[in-house]
Amino acid sequence: MDALNALLDLKLREREQQGLLRQLRTPGEAIDFYSNDYLGLARSSALSAEIEQQYREGNYLNGSTGSRLLGGNYPLIEDTEHKLAARFKSEGCILFNSGYSANLAVLSAVPGRGDTILFDNLAHASLKDGARLSLAKHHSFRHNDPEDLERKLAAATGNKFVVLESVYSMDGDLCALEDLIATSRRHNAIIVLDEAHSTGVMGDGGSGLAIARGLEKQVDIRVYTFGKAMGVHGACVAGSSRLIQYLVNFSRPFIYTTAPAPHQVLSIQCAFDYLDRHLNLQAELQDKVSRYLNGIGSIERTNSQSAIQTVICPGNDNVRALSAHLATRGFDVRPIISPTVPKGTERLRICLHTFNSNEEIDRLAEAINTVTPRFRPTA
Ligand code: PMP
Repeated sequence: MDALNALLDLKLREREQQGLLRQLRTPGEAIDFYSNDYLGLARSSALSAEIEQQYREGNYLNGSTGSRLLGGNYPLIEDTEHKLAARFKSEGCILFNSGYSANLAVLSAVPGRGDTILFDNLAHASLKDGARLSLAKHHSFRHNDPEDLERKLAAATGNKFVVLESVYSMDGDLCALEDLIATSRRHNAIIVLDEAHSTGVMGDGGSGLAIARGLEKQVDIRVYTFGKAMGVHGACVAGSSRLIQYLVNFSRPFIYTTAPAPHQVLSIQCAFDYLDRHLNLQAELQDKVSRYLNGIGSIERTNSQSAIQTVICPGNDNVRALSAHLATRGFDVRPIISPTVPKGTERLRICLHTFNSNEEIDRLAEAINTVTPRFRPTA
């Protein structure tokens, strides 16, 4: 035990000295400008009542009891996958416990030895971890830059995989999907698109960016997650029937884990049914984003029109102090520090929601305009 603590202590102290120690906290009373609950579905008591009613009526097991390949496959899970495949206009669809495991599942299993994975350098950690687990070589290309992708594809060997996100989670900007698809196609590359932050928010029935742009047939593998705008939990991979069959056979994060429990799966179905009846939420969210953008002055930020907004405030201590100051004014806005984002681009990550009132948004924009200059380093 002493040896273990000594080892852990060393690493933790190092983090602390660098000012990088992470700590868990539970949300307080301040206004939620941080969660991924963009459409307010996680806090919807109407959705919760629907889930509970259907759960009671369905007489489901509490747990799935095992891996999908053992006892953990059941009619509700297959029915949900069929419905999701129809929503996401794909031949097949397969559920995962989380977006993290879905991304690991795809990237660790599909690209093989001798292949090359090229991911956008702002891609989520789960995509990078998946690439690391795979036997393929992996490199990043400059964010949203078709020319850099072109160069890297030209030098790549084996089967080529291009990994993109619809809405980048720390910058809030959209993928340059058309251009990156065109570049990828020229090199016969396979495209993987993580739709985590577009699921629910964009596209008919919350079906994400590729479908909203009519590009779904050009994207080979799409990952949708349900813990953000859908307000529940879990994820799916959508693609060809062959892809689904392959994942069932070769993907360790699918094979060696207990299947999602019925309550989780039912919640996913109910959340999409609910969204179908409240699609106005998507436009309401966009109105909130416009309102915020109209309210802020000329602060430094990333080029985002989405519900994820940023205020660049270089320096971990500076951005933490800015966040703490906003908390004293009643706003819960989280700092994103380096190395999660590159040094010098530390930022506030502001998430806007349908449930943030206009008055709250105006007050936040006003506070940001007036206090940000005080926390930015002087030149
Ligand atoms: N992809 C992206 C872009 C994400 O932001 C996240 C969550 N932070 C994930 C995947 C992982 O999804 P989940 O939270 O469902 O594991």
